[in-house]
Amino acid sequence: MDRREAMLRELNLYPQWVLRNQPVPDAVEQLAPKAGNPLSGEPNVELTPPIAADVSLGIPAPTLVAATREAAASGLPSVKPSRIVALDWPGLKQQVRDCTACKLRAGCTQTVFGVGDEKADWLFVGEGPGADEDALGEPFVGQAGKLLDNMLMAIKLKRGKNVYIANIVKCRPPGNRNPEADEVATCLPYLERQIELIQPKLIVALGKVASNALLGKDATLASLRGKLHDYRGISLLVTYHPAYLLRTPSEKAKAWQDLLLAVRTMEDRNQIIPLS
Ligand code: URA
Repeated sequence: MDRREAMLRELNLYPQWVLRNQPVPDAVEQLAPKAGNPLSGEPNVELTPPIAADVSLGIPAPTLVAATREAAASGLPSVKPSRIVALDWPGLKQQVRDCTACKLRAGCTQTVFGVGDEKADWLFVGEGPGADEDALGEPFVGQAGKLLDNMLMAIKLKRGKNVYIANIVKCRPPGNRNPEADEVATCLPYLERQIELIQPKLIVALGKVASNALLGKDATLASLRGKLHDYRGISLLVTYHPAYLLRTPSEKAKAWQDLLLAVRTMEDRNQIIPLS
């Protein structure tokens, strides 16, 4: 058994995803659209309308207004998105390091900025650092991170090679709770600037918190999966958070479908030939 097969077994994907009576193909080769291949069925493509000005932080306007008021009332220094939009990588990293704009900073060891290829085509976005990430200063380095690395390997990607990994919030929420709306609203401009600098071709949002924050929705993960969304002109797909998959391994097959859709989306995108 080679390393790749071992990893697919670990994901509960081997040999589950191999079609009966078919030659065993390479995992990614299965993605090419082929008639009669249930894995290559046309995705249900739904482009969400462009994000309106009043939800420019990707959070529904009423939530954002309430969260911004709460942040202002907290007495903490505010993040000024207008200052962030012009920052280059070093400036942005410094701002994040120095940020004390929400209550998370007081409870974490260090900020966790993001990691990887700063010109990557693929951007994976999680929720926020956990204990391991807080200790090491890098996203997805604990158990969930190992699974994410395996998911990347399953589609022939590797952390740092054409892949960038970041989180919605840069500071660890206490006790691994979900980040609160005001924390998301305060921190999101940093990720938005990271996305502007990276200019990825595809964003994969890991879990409900990341998906809703980026899409400005309050929707279930099930309703967001399996469709191509639009984040400010960039394709965005939603899948399960690796930590959820560790708790619920039976959902790994669905995550695999999401990854296949992601690869197909990239393949299709790369085949588009500009008219001029
Ligand atoms: N979970 C996340 O959402 N992000 C991390 O960096 C680690 C665990």
